[in-house]
Formats: sequence, structure tokens, C-alpha cells
Amino acid sequence: MNSNAIKMASRMFCSAPKVIPRVCIVGAGPAGFYAAMHLSKHLDNVNIDILEKLPVPFGLIRYGVAPDHPEVKNVINQFTKVAQQNNVNFYGNIALGQDITLSQLRQHYDAVLLTYGAEEDRILGIDNEDGENIIAARNFVGWYNGLPSDKDLKVDLSGSTAAILGQGNVALDIARILLTPLDKLKTTDITEHALETLAESKIKELYLVGRRGPLQVAFTIKELREQLKLDNCKTIWRKEDFAGVADVVANLPRPRKRLTELMLKALNENQTVDNNNNVKYLKPIFFRSPEKFLLNDQKKLTGIQFVCNELVGDKIEEQKCVPTSEKEIIECSLAFRSIGYKSVKVDSDLTFSASGYVPNNRGRVDDQLVNKAKLYVAGWLGTGPVGVILHTMGNAFQVAKVMCEDLKSDCIANKGGFEEVKKSLNTPVVDWKGWEKIDQYETEQGKKKGKPREKICTVEKMIEIANI
Ligand code: FAD
Ligand code: NAP
Repeated sequence: MNSNAIKMASRMFCSAPKVIPRVCIVGAGPAGFYAAMHLSKHLDNVNIDILEKLPVPFGLIRYGVAPDHPEVKNVINQFTKVAQQNNVNFYGNIALGQDITLSQLRQHYDAVLLTYGAEEDRILGIDNEDGENIIAARNFVGWYNGLPSDKDLKVDLSGSTAAILGQGNVALDIARILLTPLDKLKTTDITEHALETLAESKIKELYLVGRRGPLQVAFTIKELREQLKLDNCKTIWRKEDFAGVADVVANLPRPRKRLTELMLKALNENQTVDNNNNVKYLKPIFFRSPEKFLLNDQKKLTGIQFVCNELVGDKIEEQKCVPTSEKEIIECSLAFRSIGYKSVKVDSDLTFSASGYVPNNRGRVDDQLVNKAKLYVAGWLGTGPVGVILHTMGNAFQVAKVMCEDLKSDCIANKGGFEEVKKSLNTPVVDWKGWEKIDQYETEQGKKKGKPREKICTVEKMIEIANI
């Protein structure tokens, strides 16, 4: 149907009496909550239902942000206020694509906003990537943060050398968790199973491997500074990786300049290996692309073979790495692949870009269907898996603004909303009151151990507590 026909058809529904628009948001992470915040603030009348796959809200704030960064998690207080509004409802334990289809949601709401994030990890696509002790950053993060699907991850920290592939902030989170003295982690909301395993860790030397150079690292200054200040940990750089860096630093854009200056300063500080047995080492190395994982007869990791790279291109931050004929092997018994996340196409009605996000124009997904809710996307599902909470907030506000414009100008049909949706659900739903019970239970369990909370790590237990 052409766009004129769509407009005419939608005008036919305009004769319906004025009703309150019903908005469905799929995914209770930052993008979902920030969008709900904006919509409820800027529309006089709106009913917002937030559907979430897990029985608990907050997405990567709960399951991504590192346990030793409690201040970052304070945004939860803002989100809680949003959820406590009369016209906002949280419905947990409902997965789009599993418990409900996009088509059903678009039938029962006036607008559907997808904010279900990026739930898979990118892979390298090299030999032996499925070997033992090669762990996706996403699973490791989920494991120490209590994500139910990762609670049984096998993490073997019995070797002395490990490597993290990738040099983003997730890579630095993982490094910090592995290198921080246990006493510091004990007072965070890190899971008990992670603490037990970390207590037995024999890791002494941790490589942080980047395919490009020091001028292209993806981590940021605050996170590096934190790493450099860790007790009982030394960061040892390779001097040759920094050839020519000091010459260009003055002309770099400001955040990159400050970050590079910090690396150069650290490079010129004490770079010797100590005799002190308690000291652990982070060893960032550059210009190395993993080529294959080396495994023994039991398929266990013994090392990683790298191709040595050189950089081409004029603009420093956009320089690309090209392989040389040189290779290097790093022996290690554990590797973390930390090269980014990827969104999942959970419903066959969704269009996905080749790089794994939902194409959109300021949040609008261009597939208008007659008598079906308009479709929008925000957060990592619409932008790709980059950006801190602040970026996600900016994007969610921008998309919600577009939705407000549309909802004010479109005619609204009398849709059934969640009352209709729940008729086709075969799963127990956890509402906000249910989450509050889980929250209280976790906080009480944490208090007994001097932690802010002890997370429940199974969906079954969450549902049980929510229903008491
Ligand atoms: P998410 O936070 O992933 O939320 C998506 C939600 O959708 C989740 O609750 C998920 O369970 C739900 N969902 C998934 N599939 C479905 C489905 N099929 N049906 C229904 N619901 C579904 N930023 C900072 O500013 N500071 C930090 O310290 C920081 N630490 C980070 C640490 C890690 C490991 C990672 C990966 C990111 C970190 N970030 C940090 C970035 C920040 O987490 C993101 O910017 C933000 O979470 C993206 O929000 P989102 O709502 O798009 O996605
Ligand atoms: P990221 O910032 O995109 O970093 C990915 C890293 O993987 C980069 O070093 C990248 O190198 C490398 N990489 C990608 N493909 C590769 C390949 N095929 N081979 C080798 N290396 C490869 O991703 P992230 O660390 O997952 O973080 C995601 C977002 O969350 C970021 O915006 C981050 O800032 C945010 N975050 C923030 C915090 C915080 O604020 N404390 C904590 C965690 C995450 P190239 O640059 O060469 O591509």
C-alpha cells in the first residue's frame, strides 16, 4: 500500500473518540526507562507498559556495570521513580520473540518502542575459538554480576597468565575484577560464586591486547586511571609500541590527548617486575591481531598466535591496521574475547542491518502497517552497542521526543494494551511490586555479608520471591 493510501486508511480510524495512547516499551534497561521518563513527562495523557525478558529491571545497569562502580548504579533511583508513576507499568519475565510476538504488540498498542539492547557478543571468527578457557567478555561480566544464564559459566583461573583481546572499557572492567585485591570486591554486590572462584585465582600476569596502537585505544581516561591506581598491581607497557606517540600528542583532540598523556606518564614510571609475590601485572600490548588460538590435546587453551600489524590512514583515530608477515605467540591458559556486543533479531518481523542493529530514522522504524502501532527503536538496539549511559539517555530522549510528536498528531485507536497481551501469555508475570520484593530480599541477604545486595541468580527463585 502506498503512503497516501496509508494516510487515508489511518484517517478512517480518526473518528474514534479521544482515547489515551497506549505505548509498549520492550526492554527495561536505561533506554527503556529514559524513554518512559520523557514520554510520561511530555504527554498529558499516556499509558506506558514496559515489558522485560527477565523478572528484574535495569538491564546492563544491573548485569553489565562493574560491581565496584556502585555510583554508576544510582540511576536506578531515577528509574524507580519512573516505574512508580501510576501510568507506567513494569511487566517482567516476558520475552519478545519467545512469549509474545512483535505483531501481537503492534496490534494491541498505539506505539511500540524496542529497547532490548545487545544480548550477544561479537566473535573473532578465527581458528579454535570454541576451545576451552576462551570466554566471551559478555558471559564473564554476566557471571560476576549474577545474570541467570551465565551463573554456571566455567571459569578456570588456575593458570598464571591470561589475555584479554580488545581494549575497550569492558576489557578494563574485566582486568580490574581479575586484578583487584579480593577484600575490596567483598563489599560490592559481586556474586558469591565469583568471589569464591576469584579467591582461588592464580593469575599473575594479564595481557590486554589491541589490534591498533596507543592512539586508538577504546577505553577512557577515568577507567585507565583507576586501573593504574590499583593496589598490588603494576601496569607494564612495551616501550616500542609508543614510538612517535610523544611527537603527536600535543595536536590530538582534548580527551584523546589527556588519555595519551596518562599512558605516556605511566610508561615512564617504574616499569620493572617486582620480587614481591603479591604483585600482579597488567601488560597492555598493541598492534596485534589474534590469528588463532592454540589448544592442547584436551582442547584446552595453551596460547594465542597473533599477526603483527601496522597502521595505515591519515586521520589518527580512523587509522586501520594492516597485517605484516610477522607473528607473535603469547602463552596463556585463559583468554577473554572483549571485542564488543551485538543485538539479536528476536522476531522475524524485524529488519536488521548487516552490522546488527535495527535501522531507523531518529528512532522511527520505517515499516508503517495499516492499523498496527508505529514502531520505534532506541538505545543500543538502534545505535549499535557503543556509548555510556549518558549517550543512551540522549538517544532515548531524542527518540521519545519523536514519539511524542507522532502521538500528538496521529489519531489514536482504542487499543487493549496489556489486558489483551496477557491473554496470550503462558508465563508468570513479575510486576513492579514483585520486583520490590526481590529487591528487598536481595538487600537483606547482602546485609548479612556486608554487601549492598546478594543477587538472586535463578529466574525460578526470583519468581518465587516475587510471588510470596
Ligand atoms: P540494556 O541495558 O542492555 O537493556 C536492554 C534490556 O532489554 C535488558 O533489561 C534485557 O534483559 C532486555 N531484553 C533483552 N532481550 C529482550 C527480549 N527479547 N524481550 C524483552 N526484553 C529483552 N555505561 C556507563 O555509563 N558506565 C559504566 O560503568 C558502564 N559499564 C558497562 C559495562 C558493561 C559490561 C557494558 C556492556 C556496558 C556498560 N556501560 C556503562 C554502557 C551502558 O550499560 C549502556 O549504555 C546501556 O546499558 C545501554 O542501554 P540499553 O537500554 O540500550 O540496553
Ligand atoms: P568497544 O569500546 O567498542 O571496544 C571494543 C574493542 O575491541 C576495541 O579495542 C576494538 O578495537 C576491539 N576489536 C573489535 N573488533 C576486533 C577484532 N576483530 N579483533 C581485535 N580487536 C577488535 O566495546 P566494549 O568495550 O564492549 O564497550 C561497549 C561500550 O560500553 C563502550 O561505549 C564503552 O565505553 C561502554 N562501557 C563503558 C564503561 C564505563 O564507562 N566504565 C564500562 C564498560 C563499557 P578497534 O578500535 O581497533 O576496533
